[in-house]
Amino acid sequence: MTEWTDRLRQEAGDGWPTKVTAFRAGMAVHGRYQKPCPVCASPVQRIRYADNECNYCVTCQCGGKLLADRGLSQLLKKDWPKTLAELEERRRAP
Ligand SMILES: [Zn+2]
Repeated sequence: MTEWTDRLRQEAGDGWPTKVTAFRAGMAVHGRYQKPCPVCASPVQRIRYADNECNYCVTCQCGGKLLADRGLSQLLKKDWPKTLAELEERRRAP
């Protein structure tokens, strides 16, 4: 797991949590995609990288900044929402 999170961090740059402990705390949201985070009740997000998949909480682990899912970010390009608020807005839009 360490190897792919290192690669992810390189890809995500500033968007990736810098504290490894914060990421470990993310085990609490493992398998909780789209369910509320047990800590802050934000909807848990999912990111995919190659064959790996990871659930994370934007608020607790990323300071409110979404990580760009590789597949989705390629698909949506500049339209990819950068924050949870933007993502929610997008989901509400017709
Ligand atoms: Zn949270």
